[in-house]
Amino acid sequence: MLFGILRENDHRVSVTPELAKKFISEGHEVCFEIGAGTTAYFNDSSYTAVGATEKSREDILKTANVLITLDPISKEEVELLSEGTFLFSSFEPFQDASICELYATKGISAFSFDMIPRTTIAQSMDVLSSMASIAGYKAVLKATELLPRYMPMLSTAAGTVPPSKVLILGAGVAGLQAIATAKRLGAQVEAFDTRAASKEEVQSLGAKFVEVAGANDDTNAGGYAVEQSEEYKKKQAELINQKIEKADVVITTAQLRGRPAPTLISEEAVKSMKPGSVIVDIASSTGGNCALTEDAKVVKKHDVFIVGNSNLAADISEQASVLFSKNVQNYFKLMLTKEGFNFDFSDEIILQSCIVYKGEVIYGNEAKQQALVPAPQVEETAEA
Ligand code: NAD
Repeated sequence: MLFGILRENDHRVSVTPELAKKFISEGHEVCFEIGAGTTAYFNDSSYTAVGATEKSREDILKTANVLITLDPISKEEVELLSEGTFLFSSFEPFQDASICELYATKGISAFSFDMIPRTTIAQSMDVLSSMASIAGYKAVLKATELLPRYMPMLSTAAGTVPPSKVLILGAGVAGLQAIATAKRLGAQVEAFDTRAASKEEVQSLGAKFVEVAGANDDTNAGGYAVEQSEEYKKKQAELINQKIEKADVVITTAQLRGRPAPTLISEEAVKSMKPGSVIVDIASSTGGNCALTEDAKVVKKHDVFIVGNSNLAADISEQASVLFSKNVQNYFKLMLTKEGFNFDFSDEIILQSCIVYKGEVIYGNEAKQQALVPAPQVEETAEA
């Protein structure tokens, strides 16, 4: 099979030369668009050195059997693909399922990394976690760049500098990495999340958990947050507002899968913050957790910096590309053979991540999903 590597819209690359080498050593071919890895510090010669060949973007789109990308290619480019192409990307069908119809009419197959179940066994393939962890780290560094204050407590000859107070809203993968990073910098860290399980995780990193009693049960939500009652939201807002007023930095990461992000910081709360304070809103692409966030922008409102950036992983392009590629490599161990793909749909990871198969929309269609699963083998028993 011919694997294609395209130049992405940000600084990362989906397949490093190391992974390209692996595909080639398994008998496949790899082609890459000129400059595909340059901004992740993998230059063209590092791809040719492992046996990959340079091609134009159009040529790759028209001829590759397998395309692995960080973000989906445009609808116009999908038109160029040949029937039978396999696409691997983060398609977010839970945001817009109509994308599946387009792939189906082209007779292609699409597998979505963001549909891989968040289970222990799938951890090594979880691109959402790899990228969120980098984003959490970078969010704290972004805040330190803008903050006109130190993070750690310092005793200087001119007097003692108090530590900055950092508040993390949403203690999932990104939030936990933000906690760890802010702690390493010596800040005083508090965090809040609606998921019951997060309390212990926050505390294990040495941060204080801001507790709001009465959250809805999330035990059957696959690890994701659930919508909360109006009464809970009111109590949460009151307590969070008190914490925001005192914070020097607020990092927000709260997301609700397939729905707009909850607003956790109102304009009034921004106004209550000290001048020069910083909000880094990682949830900006789905509406943001702060009412004043503007996606993909840094704005200053009421003397507070507000960074709206859901793509912070791209700022650490080399490492993000390496981790993304490792996730892809681990995922492909489940399905890639020397002869081509061998999908065992009895494996939940493959089944859940397949959104379109050979021109059929699988996402959201349980009957079609189940039809892919092979019938269990009935063991023959010796007749008595
Ligand atoms: P996410 O990006 O969907 O959301 C980030 C955080 O925001 C979550 O912790 C969520 O609970 C929180 N949140 C949502 N609404 C909120 C609100 N109103 N107020 C405060 N916080 C709010 O989450 P994620 O980081 O992708 O992680 C999702 C879940 O999957 C987590 O439980 C995580 O621990 C779990 N997970 C499990 C594995 C695994 O076992 N393999 C791997 C990765 C993630």
